[in-house]
Amino acid sequence: MVGLETKNIWVIANWKSNKTVQEALEWISVVGPKLERRENIRVVVCPTFNCLSEVKKAITVGNFPLIVGSQDLSPFEKGAYTGEDPASILKQFIEVAIVGHSERRKNFGETDELVVQKVKQAIDNQIIPLVCVQGKETPVPEGVKLVAYEPVFAIGTGNPDTPENASSVAEFLNQKYGEDTEILYGGSVNSNNVESFISKDNINGVLVGGASLDPEKFIKIIEVCTTL
Ligand code: PEP
Repeated sequence: MVGLETKNIWVIANWKSNKTVQEALEWISVVGPKLERRENIRVVVCPTFNCLSEVKKAITVGNFPLIVGSQDLSPFEKGAYTGEDPASILKQFIEVAIVGHSERRKNFGETDELVVQKVKQAIDNQIIPLVCVQGKETPVPEGVKLVAYEPVFAIGTGNPDTPENASSVAEFLNQKYGEDTEILYGGSVNSNNVESFISKDNINGVLVGGASLDPEKFIKIIEVCTTL
């Protein structure tokens, strides 16, 4: 088994459409000071677009080892695209962008083609695209090195996939897209089950929705990852 201290572990909070600026800043003020600076642990917070600026500022001022990500980005460059947030503007706040989440595919018509365009925008602007795949059949665009396997049945249901199945999907994705592609698992992750996923050699972390909203619950997940 690869030692957990030698592989990268990403712990990514996806707040979805939650938290006012004030609530976001409270979360940062609780989680930030608890984080240890560790080379192989990457903790990312993905707030709503309207919170990005203040969250980034709070993290910078506090000098916390927290990376800021977005939950989406525009498939276009800046210009006449009402309502869109382009990568060239987002890059002042974020290092990572979630792309192709199943909730966007289901509710906002995000297609594989749009995912390709968004990935291109991210890469062109030095943002790491984190592409969500719902199963082995979801295509991963060229250039992507961070993928989250998130089966739809597991999202927000309290019914996670088994670590064995997640690991076998990760193995498939590594064979198809390269061993240097880091694979995360997402879907009903909490502090009780996170160890079972990240202890699999080929799983490089977790994408956490519901359990990331409460700072104490999220800290517990990070603690499991740092103490293993
Ligand atoms: C998600 O939506 O990315 C997610 C993993 O949600 P949850 O943890 O709530 O299942």
